[in-house]
Amino acid sequence: MADAFIGVGSNLGNKLENIRKAMSLIKERCKILKISHLYKTEPVGFKSQQWFLNCAAKAQTSLKPKELLEFLLSIEKKLGRVRTIRYGPRTIDLDILFYDDMIIREDNLVVPHPRLHERLFVLVPLKDICPDFIHPALNKTISELCSSASNSKVSKLQTEENYLN
Ligand code: AMP
Repeated sequence: MADAFIGVGSNLGNKLENIRKAMSLIKERCKILKISHLYKTEPVGFKSQQWFLNCAAKAQTSLKPKELLEFLLSIEKKLGRVRTIRYGPRTIDLDILFYDDMIIREDNLVVPHPRLHERLFVLVPLKDICPDFIHPALNKTISELCSSASNSKVSKLQTEENYLN
């Protein structure tokens, strides 16, 4: 069994519902150990699009990294994600942020996720669930990375405590 941290985002359609559906599909192959608060976040990269909803989950799984990636991509597909422009709008975006403390650098899979340390919309949710986790390549905790990431607007949504139900 491994502990994977998964980043979840949506900025098309009913965003909360997309996240709920994605989480319930993820549960078919992973045990969710922790889930962050939900955040409304400013789009990064391609600005003229809707704000995102983001969260992060700690998932225990027997899937190997490549299998987990395939599984997450199949969920994106099921939920109707159509890839258009890079960093453009998406029904659901699922990223492997960490997989235990493994470092993987392959053509179609890079873990830790290569841009996570620059992105507050990933770091702030991660800080809810693993503030002291040490980024295995950068040797810094999530809290430390959070305080040095460049600014972008990330605000906690006042949803009920367990928004997945
Ligand atoms: P995007 O959904 O636009 O972020 O890109 C998805 C593609 O990025 C996938 O097809 C993967 O092959 C690749 N990729 C590389 N590293 C990761 C990762 N850590 N998590 C998810 N996708 C990754």
